[in-house]
Amino acid sequence: MSSYKKVLPEEKWPLVEHFLQTFCRYANIAEACGHKLDVSKFMSEYVWAFTRERRTEFDRSFRDKLLRDEYRRQGLCTKCGENKPIEGRALCRACAERARRAYARGKKQDEGGVSGGC
Ligand SMILES: [Zn+2]
Repeated sequence: MSSYKKVLPEEKWPLVEHFLQTFCRYANIAEACGHKLDVSKFMSEYVWAFTRERRTEFDRSFRDKLLRDEYRRQGLCTKCGENKPIEGRALCRACAERARRAYARGKKQDEGGVSGGC
């Protein structure tokens, strides 16, 4: 269990310890619920949460891009990832309509300078 101390410099230890603690906590929760923790799933979600904590624009846009690529690969709308997109477009009908309305609303606000409540 302490092998990481041999391969990693000392300043990285807290990172690994945080990971192990989090992992053990989730493993215990999973076990208490009668499940077995999926290590690879945990890894990806841990990394996801970790990059989210940093909240840099690069991380967010990069993660969004990965997500969109994944949706596109599965042949789904790149916005909601649930519906089938319109033929020849990346968005489904609902998302395209929502984007169109948001765009129209933004335009109206620009023109009139009215910020009235919805
Ligand atoms: Zn959609």
